[in-house]
Amino acid sequence: MKMKKREIDLRSDTQTLPCEGMREAMLGAEVGDDVAREDPSVNELQEYGCEISGKEASIFVLTGTQANLIGALAHCDRGDEYIAGSLSHIYRWEAGGASVVGGLQVQPVEFSADGTLDLRLVKEQIKPGMPHYARTRLLCLENTQMGKALPMEYLRQAYEFCGKNGLGLYMDGARVFNAAVALGVDLKEIAGSTDTISLCMSKALGAPAGSLLCGSREVIERGIRLRKMLGCGARQLGMLAAGCMYALKHNMGCLAQDHLNAKYLANEIDRLNVPHLFCAELNTNMVFVNLPEGTMEGLRGYLKSRGILAGGYSSPRYLRLVLHKSVEQEDVRRVAEAMGDYYVEVAMGLGR
Ligand SMILES: *Cc1c(COP(=O)(O)O)cnc(C)c1O
Repeated sequence: MKMKKREIDLRSDTQTLPCEGMREAMLGAEVGDDVAREDPSVNELQEYGCEISGKEASIFVLTGTQANLIGALAHCDRGDEYIAGSLSHIYRWEAGGASVVGGLQVQPVEFSADGTLDLRLVKEQIKPGMPHYARTRLLCLENTQMGKALPMEYLRQAYEFCGKNGLGLYMDGARVFNAAVALGVDLKEIAGSTDTISLCMSKALGAPAGSLLCGSREVIERGIRLRKMLGCGARQLGMLAAGCMYALKHNMGCLAQDHLNAKYLANEIDRLNVPHLFCAELNTNMVFVNLPEGTMEGLRGYLKSRGILAGGYSSPRYLRLVLHKSVEQEDVRRVAEAMGDYYVEVAMGLGR
């Protein structure tokens, strides 16, 4: 089997590789023409998506970005507006797709520290129904947001708020399985406070590609048309779907371990007792490390020389370390140790 050279890769949970069992499941998948809705493996996955989310319908899409794009477009018409976090994936990291392809306008709102969008701020941004304004149609939440699971109480409030204010609620659930595990709730509980939700199998669950978009029959039927329009009415898609099914059935148990490893790593880093080196609080698989000023590049280079890749999407202020099933507890210890060694060198005037 062709695997990449063994490095400890903490850049993202997208770095997980399909395991032997998943590859076998993919190879043996029954397939058909999915555009004709005749691919048994895709159909099975979509039915399973309904079962775990509690939604009426679901479609298989290639990426989380595609799920977000279809989700936003299925809820809005051209010229409509959606509200999203100013650092949300759908707004910041998706090449402006909802605007470019859908003609949608975004109204960004700053995230609160816990990853929620303050509903009072959201309320202020809902445009009055007058010809001056775009029609505000949708609120997009992200769960987890910067590794934080959104509190259930907030989700219930947000869903009620959206209902009262005529907005749909879309959840970018790229890491919502992590949220469910961290909160100890069933995915259905989270999904029950949304109209439409995306689920991703290609991050910590380890499938090579694939997300599900789950919602009402009406929204998902619109979604099927949009997916076709976006050039992704794919044919024998069942091999990928089988990998995703394997991910959902076999790899969910890895998430709790990832969360433990993240806590362990954060503890080990805090125990190094380096001034200005500390980790933010966390409850899922991401560690955000505040670094002593000016050490980001030096640290990343040093870690790389020790076979550790870190900081895929970091800001100059913090280093993001993401735990996933290809990183073991022993690796975590090595990472903390290497960081400690680097700061010893810095203290001795040797580090850059
Ligand atoms: C990764 C991610 C996506 C997009 O997923 P892709 O499969 O990479 O397109 C969307 N939202 C969030 C929050 C993500 O982290």
